[in-house]
Amino acid sequence: MSVGAGGIGEPAEEGPAAWDMLIVGAGPAGLTSAIYAGRARLSTLAIEKMVPGGQIVLNDVIENYPGFPDGITGFDLAQKMAQQAARFGAQIQTGTVDRIEVSRYPFRIRVAGGEGDSEFEARSVVVATGCSPRKLGVPGEKELAGRGVSYCATCDGPLFAEKRLAVVGGGNTAIDEALFLAKVASSVTVVHRRDQLRADPILQERAFANSKVDFLWSHVVTEIVGDEYVEAVRARHVGTGEETEVPVDGVFIAVGETPQAGFLPEEIARDERGYIVTDSDLQTSVPGVFAAGDVRAGAYRQIASAVGDGVLAYRNIRQYLEEHV
Ligand code: NAP
Repeated sequence: MSVGAGGIGEPAEEGPAAWDMLIVGAGPAGLTSAIYAGRARLSTLAIEKMVPGGQIVLNDVIENYPGFPDGITGFDLAQKMAQQAARFGAQIQTGTVDRIEVSRYPFRIRVAGGEGDSEFEARSVVVATGCSPRKLGVPGEKELAGRGVSYCATCDGPLFAEKRLAVVGGGNTAIDEALFLAKVASSVTVVHRRDQLRADPILQERAFANSKVDFLWSHVVTEIVGDEYVEAVRARHVGTGEETEVPVDGVFIAVGETPQAGFLPEEIARDERGYIVTDSDLQTSVPGVFAAGDVRAGAYRQIASAVGDGVLAYRNIRQYLEEHV
């Protein structure tokens, strides 16, 4: 068994000819597989395109991950998971996996980024790439991205001190973001397409009790208006069809997620929405390639369940490797 030199974000210069486990995406699922694989003394490399932690680093406070009764920031939790994986010998390298060749074995994985493209061989792969925010697809969204249109309250919220904001969506992300933004903004209008939120009741209670948060119910956004910067959100009532314009300085879009699986070869089956299809062992349609966390079809899309996926993927990969020496 050989584990290459380097720590978090450093190149795996001295890695083995073929890694036992290559993990694509160092979020909670991928890092958990890395912790377990490291402790099992499997040579383990995780490739992450941003920073370890994936989407959770964008979370302000995480309250429902067990073990942190006072909550923990997404950034801190991500750091702790990454440190734990590194402690047991797993490597985490920055880069973007843009191709996995599954027609040969060991699998060949191409990584773009860093100081140029590199290729790795691996005897098993865990795809744990998670999801990215879904776009609304309305006029003005693309044009005003970064000019008042955002998909990340913790990243961009502090730029909107004492400004009027809108949040689009009614799920946990939307309400989390509305509550976070209400700490800095002068007002936050949640524009939701139904008259009921999907978010957890505890978040709903807080949002309804927050004097800075109000709701535009049963409206779909039809346009984000502005020349250079966002000036307003235009929305249509789903029943009457009546159009309303809400003057705002920023719009945070939180209308769900899309799986980050577009880079995978066609041999790895996906469902109609693009999520990776696995069996109950989390193995994909390609033996030796597993999927874990939010990118997997049927995932509950919580940090705790992603962690569970990471363990299961590890366990079944270990068995797979024992049978495929
Ligand atoms: P989500 O739960 O899928 O909610 C998406 C929201 O956007 C829904 O309210 C949906 O409306 C709305 N929506 C979808 N498409 C739309 C469109 N085209 N136009 C207008 N509105 C649209 O997504 P999420 O909030 O990003 O959460 C993703 C996952 O992460 C979930 O499993 C969630 O529980 C989890 N998460 C958990 C926490 C937490 O536990 N604190 C925090 C963040 C995220 P409808 O309700 O009408 O469908």
